Amino acid sequence: MQHTIALETIGPQGPEMAHAVEKCVHCGFCLSACPTYKVLGEEMDSPRGRIYLMKEQLEGHLALDEMTPFVDRCLGCMACVTTCPSGVEYGDLLTPFRARAEQERSRSPMERLTRLMVRETLPYPGRFRLAAAMGKLAKPLQSVLPGPLGNMLDLLPDALPAQQPLPEIVPAVGERRARVALLAGCVQQVLAPQINRATLKVLAHNGVEVLIPRAQGCCGSLAMHTGEEAQALRLARHNLDQFVPLLLRDDVDMVVTNAAGCGSGMKEYGLLFKGTVHEDRAKLFASKVQDISVFLAALDMKPLQPLPESLTIAYHDACHLAHAQRITAQPRQLLSAIPNVTLVPIPEGELCCGSAGTYNLEQPELAHQIGERKARNILTTGADAVVTGNIGCMTQIQTHLAALGQPLPIWHTVEVLAQAIAA
Ligand code: SF4
Ligand code: SF4
Repeated sequence: MQHTIALETIGPQGPEMAHAVEKCVHCGFCLSACPTYKVLGEEMDSPRGRIYLMKEQLEGHLALDEMTPFVDRCLGCMACVTTCPSGVEYGDLLTPFRARAEQERSRSPMERLTRLMVRETLPYPGRFRLAAAMGKLAKPLQSVLPGPLGNMLDLLPDALPAQQPLPEIVPAVGERRARVALLAGCVQQVLAPQINRATLKVLAHNGVEVLIPRAQGCCGSLAMHTGEEAQALRLARHNLDQFVPLLLRDDVDMVVTNAAGCGSGMKEYGLLFKGTVHEDRAKLFASKVQDISVFLAALDMKPLQPLPESLTIAYHDACHLAHAQRITAQPRQLLSAIPNVTLVPIPEGELCCGSAGTYNLEQPELAHQIGERKARNILTTGADAVVTGNIGCMTQIQTHLAALGQPLPIWHTVEVLAQAIAA
């Protein structure tokens, strides 16, 4: 029997979910910004369609299994939020909806196995390193393994860069101007440890002392954005215990992150912990999280030196930086401060690259189409290199540029800044 439920009453995040639904005036401005609508051309694969589907499901008019394929295809890129003239906070609806749906929906044994493997490896650098080593041995079996498992192997790198443990404190060079804590990340530590090293170098060079709490772990953003709420809460709570005491004692001014996905997830901690005893600590923590580009842009950095050779850079806006956190100016401002760097815009720059956490595993065909489109758009710029602020985007873009036979160098913003210091 059909029934209607007031969305405000469906849980601690109900008021935010209801607010997002109510604010949508169905104008359709967001459709042209949505990568899945662009590729598939279906209303139900657009932000407006998904808001309607989630509302209908939450109100009890629609079975979960009928509508989850459309919500599953959503990248969570938040391009619709940037475009929406009515200020619909789509993420306030999507993230809690996915958490609810995950508890009730049916999944095939293969989907459950894939999610289990992701859950138990990616957030833990030691396990991920081991999985990457084992994956390398299993690569010859790739073509005979079922879809998602084969896709996982495809995403594992052939070789991992050498790992170096991070120190617990990196002192400022010269007079200390600030003290921050660094979220070291999980996947990024394994795939691109040079990003943290570049971050530490740039911060120290500019008079910032950095604390890297040893007991910290994954921030839980990946889990949060894929509906694995219990794991997200567990991981986030652990990090609250590591970082909040530093903030309460004024030991650090900020918590800095160099991964867009982590930054955006940590800023959502207030909503994640809403209605729990941790809500106040979560809000305090979220208010102190800053992307490295924002922190550096506000710091009045020492002058940067020219790079050994002039460089034309295509700067790619990571969705979790540009759309979820509205950070677009600061990375460009920092890169433009290098005397011989030229920035060029990427056509359709607002579109996601198709990385989006585990999207490559769960929606491989769409992720491939969107990734290839991004790579082709980058190549039209004639840039020498690609720069962005998120490890997921770096991996995805690198894969698709290589597949097109044009493996341009791809760096994190701080890696280029560190080069401009070394030079
Ligand atoms: S642009 Fe905003 S208000 Fe208009 S349909 Fe999209 S989400 Fe709704
Ligand atoms: S989050 Fe991205 S993929 Fe999802 S509806 Fe919005 S624009 Fe489309």
